[in-house]
Amino acid sequence: SVALALSVTACSSSRTTEAPAADGSARASDTLVGIAMPTKSLERWNKDGAHLEGLLKKAGYKTTLQYADNKPDQQITQVQNMANQGAKILVVAAIDGKVLAPALAAAKAKGAKVIAYDRLINGTPDVDFYATFDNYKVGQLQGQFIKEKIGAEKVNLEPFAGSPDDNNAKFFFSGAWDVLSPLAKSGQITVPSGKAPATNDQWTSIGVLNWASDTAQSEMQNRLNSFYTGGKKVDVVLSPNDSLALGIVQALEGAGYRPGAGYPIVTGQDADKANVINMLAGKQSMTVWKDTRKLGDQVAKMVDQVVKGQTVETNDTKTYNNGVKVVPTYLLAPVVVTKDTVKTQLVDSGFYSTSDLGL
Ligand code: BGC
Repeated sequence: SVALALSVTACSSSRTTEAPAADGSARASDTLVGIAMPTKSLERWNKDGAHLEGLLKKAGYKTTLQYADNKPDQQITQVQNMANQGAKILVVAAIDGKVLAPALAAAKAKGAKVIAYDRLINGTPDVDFYATFDNYKVGQLQGQFIKEKIGAEKVNLEPFAGSPDDNNAKFFFSGAWDVLSPLAKSGQITVPSGKAPATNDQWTSIGVLNWASDTAQSEMQNRLNSFYTGGKKVDVVLSPNDSLALGIVQALEGAGYRPGAGYPIVTGQDADKANVINMLAGKQSMTVWKDTRKLGDQVAKMVDQVVKGQTVETNDTKTYNNGVKVVPTYLLAPVVVTKDTVKTQLVDSGFYSTSDLGL
């Protein structure tokens, strides 16, 4: 993939060179913005891409929006092509946060600015800004939800973590495990599978590559078959996001767990439609909702501020060190949604209509 990243293909771009705006900044109509998203297979990225592209088009920008089927090499090529087409801003939701550096260096050499979208890009000086939801807080909300629900009860818990190549995943896990590990140490929480990382840094041992639902499902099936014999029940599953939760719920149902009859607490993230429907049916306990419209609004604003040479609004300049630099970040706040607040949070805000959710 590195060789691929370095072989920047020559591509003739027929950009017009109109005069810049009077104040020396570029004009929206002269500016191509490249948007690189990870995959169409997850609902949220479709929403993210469509919303951001719509806003930028409305503001007069030229855009190109690409999805890379969760394949890092494909995303590298897309980023290279965007730069070759003359994109002056690249908005990238990285699949693998560690492999984009050469492609970004090439884009930088052509004068592009780079905004990391939702996921930080590591090991490169060539990322200018980052906009995301507070990722540690996402995990913390999952952990706190579990802690409150179990009260003083002794429980069996199974932890899962996100994709090892996604920079967000360690934040999600740490946020949750910082709340839950004291309970595991005190003996209130037992992990029958033994798959509790000894330290937060070891989270990749339970990471699910590409956030794949089917991998989460088979892993949960294996744990249930191997460690929940003789009537032992799982009480809690820490799932970092909704795509894992979908697979976990399939495994639970397959093993005979039914809502209302000792069904475990299952966490999630994203408020994907299928998961909200599962919440309403009692099959998932919560989701951490990140209103992707707000992230898109903020990133569209960032793009405009960069292009117009204005100060770019950020609110966190210390957390997101990518190994080369601390990337100035705009953090948004995630919120917990349960079945009781689907209507007030997701429907009243227009994120879903009642018919989307079969209500
Ligand atoms: C995002 C989550 C998403 C996951 C899988 C993470 O980087 O922050 O919202 O569930 O990727 O696509």
